[in-house]
Amino acid sequence: MAAVNEKELAALSKRVGKNLSKHRFEHCLRVSDYAVKLAKQNGVDVNQAAVAGLVHDYAKEVSKKDFLKKIDKSGLNPDLKNWGNAVWHGVVGAEFIKDDLGIDDPAILQAVRLHTTGGTHKEMTGLDKVVFMADYLEEGRDFPGVEEARQITDKSLDQGVFYQLAHTLSFLAGKEKVIYPKTFEAYNDWAMYLK
Ligand code: GDP
Ligand code: FE
Ligand code: FE
Ligand code: FE
Repeated sequence: MAAVNEKELAALSKRVGKNLSKHRFEHCLRVSDYAVKLAKQNGVDVNQAAVAGLVHDYAKEVSKKDFLKKIDKSGLNPDLKNWGNAVWHGVVGAEFIKDDLGIDDPAILQAVRLHTTGGTHKEMTGLDKVVFMADYLEEGRDFPGVEEARQITDKSLDQGVFYQLAHTLSFLAGKEKVIYPKTFEAYNDWAMYLK
């Protein structure tokens, strides 16, 4: 996409901030910063990383009713209606980002769509991986293992992606949560690819 200057980024940031609680907006700012750091380390477009990181959770506080409406309006797969916010805020969130914020860069929209579940190694671009990892590793995250995950990711973005997929899957299963098939698909694909 065209280079984004500081002014455009500040204007976008203001609009994102209006849609989110303070703590979630601050998470988005930190994801944007961490995405820029990982983009520089991995030869990924820094502007796209900054924007995608900033907007990735734009729809996280949208109501169930509005997500369901958007699924119909955007012609998304109706099966999505059986899921919840964890899945919607990325996949359906990309439609809000397009419609409300006017962001039409397909690379940014894909990074948002994949930021929760990840995707197969062939599907994920450098930008997708950077946003996926920045969401997990931003400076406000303090789960056990975050420092190890940051070190792994500094050495290899791909190993970082696999680490997150394995740990999130295991975390969700440990809590006996329903797991979206795309999360399994991504995990299996990276396990076969890297092992
Ligand atoms: P956040 O939006 O910054 O909180 O982070 P994410 O978008 O990565 O994840 C949102 C939530 O969805 C987290 O609690 C994840 O653990 C959870 N999550 C990730 N994958 C799945 C999945 O396959 N199924 C379900 N139910 N939750 C998931
Ligand atoms: Fe998210
Ligand atoms: Fe994530
Ligand atoms: Fe996030």
